[in-house]
Amino acid sequence: MKILNNKKNILCLSLALTFLVLSCSNKQLSPSDLSLTANNASLNESLESKNRRLPFWGVDLKGFQVLDHDSNGVGATAEDHAKARIMTATSKKRMLDILDVIRFVINTPEFEEEMLSSNRKFRSARTTKGPVGAIKKNDYYDNKRVFETLQNVKYKITISKQKLSLSAAAVASVANEHLYLYPADNKLYKRENMFIALPNRDNWDGGGYLNTAYMGGVVLHEIVHNLGYTHGASSHDTVYGVQDVFLKVYNNKEWQAKYKTKLSQFTPYYSILHEDQLTFDTLAPTPKSQKNINEQIVENHSEYACQLNVDGTYNLIKK
Ligand SMILES: [Zn+2]
Repeated sequence: MKILNNKKNILCLSLALTFLVLSCSNKQLSPSDLSLTANNASLNESLESKNRRLPFWGVDLKGFQVLDHDSNGVGATAEDHAKARIMTATSKKRMLDILDVIRFVINTPEFEEEMLSSNRKFRSARTTKGPVGAIKKNDYYDNKRVFETLQNVKYKITISKQKLSLSAAAVASVANEHLYLYPADNKLYKRENMFIALPNRDNWDGGGYLNTAYMGGVVLHEIVHNLGYTHGASSHDTVYGVQDVFLKVYNNKEWQAKYKTKLSQFTPYYSILHEDQLTFDTLAPTPKSQKNINEQIVENHSEYACQLNVDGTYNLIKK
């Protein structure tokens, strides 16, 4: 009886052990699950730690799009048209790297110092009201508040490659709601339908697009429009002012030496966040999209867009 019991016990124990081993084996034999979890964990950890280190400027990518099948460059060749209808993974990576640099610069104390410097004055180019007050055209902004709108904005942009005027470096919608006049926790800081359009001519594989300072300045210029700042103040233009602060800080040799290591530790950021975007080239849709700048402005509930020109001037495009 005792022996039988022992046998039973041994049998039960064996069964239990076998079950345990099988259970464990079963768990370990789900490599896709495990590796996914492990990857996600380390990915999130890494991005979260980067987020903690550089908490400001929550501009993120909604996606890339290519709208047109042809380029409007004078004397554009078949090859130019072919390039116009594709945004390569390499080009997309470059754009994400630009977003990395902007975010990094905005988080450094030198950017804040320059924004808040008493030598720096920003003037409103519009007369408008919002929940935290009103502002008239040519009134001076509070520098700290301008800086805070950049720090706190948290929205997603579509980066578009499309047929634009020959003089254009970039176009983006000027938001109707002026975030300067909204509290930082207002939902408008999280708008999700803004775009930056870049021309589909040659620049993508050469020229200014390869120059981080130039391109960062252009992209930031357009993002400042997305916050509701515009041109037209008689002096101390805010959009060019913020672009200038970015360039002054980024181009400073001491700043570059000081942050070389930290910048390299931060990057890549957006490329990790959007690594799925880097596994394929984005192509113009078939049939051809009919969406033009005016329609994009309407989609963004804006009245107009700013076209920043390659010569540094601008045009406001009304819908
Ligand atoms: Zn502009």
